[in-house]
Amino acid sequence: MVPGYIGRFAPSPTGPLHAGSLVAALASWLDARAHGGQWLVRIEDVDTPRCVPGADALILQQLGACGLVPDAPPRYQSQRGTLYQQALDQLLAHGAAYPCGCSRKDIAQQQPRQRHGELVYPGTCRHGLQGRPARAWRFYIEKRPPAQTLPALAAINTIVHWHDRCLGPQQQDLATEVGDFVLRRADGLWAYQLAVVVDDAAQGITHVVRGQDLADNTPRQIRLQQALGLPTPQYLHTPLVLGANGEKLSKQNGAQALDYSQPLRALHNAASVLGLPYCHGDIGLVLASWAACWRALYNPVL
Ligand SMILES: [Zn+2]
Repeated sequence: MVPGYIGRFAPSPTGPLHAGSLVAALASWLDARAHGGQWLVRIEDVDTPRCVPGADALILQQLGACGLVPDAPPRYQSQRGTLYQQALDQLLAHGAAYPCGCSRKDIAQQQPRQRHGELVYPGTCRHGLQGRPARAWRFYIEKRPPAQTLPALAAINTIVHWHDRCLGPQQQDLATEVGDFVLRRADGLWAYQLAVVVDDAAQGITHVVRGQDLADNTPRQIRLQQALGLPTPQYLHTPLVLGANGEKLSKQNGAQALDYSQPLRALHNAASVLGLPYCHGDIGLVLASWAACWRALYNPVL
């Protein structure tokens, strides 16, 4: 038992669950159950052009067929813009965010570094828009909220250290590896990083369990939490299911929608990725057996 444990599964409704997303769902459910906690589902539909109508209902149906039922009605990020705006206003008031007038083409011409094919924004608009209109809003990585500002601290450490319950000690230098990242996009949509941080705090999430493809976002989210004065949850990033090309299984590389007419088979496939043993019995029994061995397999909560 971990008093106050609240975990979540946060799918994007861009299509039905596939074998890879079920691993993250099962892992977060097991972690919550193994610690006597609550398990919530949040539909991450901020990137509206990518969302598929009806996918949210299908995902919830697939989860339900697998015995993974949230302890409260799901939340939808598309309905939470007011909260995201409040967070952005708070960051702007502290000088921890600023408007950016650069187009993609402008940024390419500023000869930024590249990382995972993404341009690392060189901070061009930190000191003003030079008469251009604001397109997007960015997080100022090297600004701290007033409470943390020490006059003697000339150089601000941009390296974020964190401990992952599966991956162990991690670190990332946000200044060199990421750059001032987007909070509100040029198309007016809220960026994933801001929405996740605001919602994790609003829902009281104490433990985040999700796929390893998202581990790279964690330092940005931790720094945002610090800037907004929000608590940092514990993190556990689970192994990924790889497609035939060796990359993370996704719709783009041919992941099949989960066949929820055979939920036990789908659950066993997901469990094997997590290193859980084969179990006999119906869904309820199998899930209970895995919850019992979960804590021994993954680092117990610190
Ligand atoms: Zn700019």
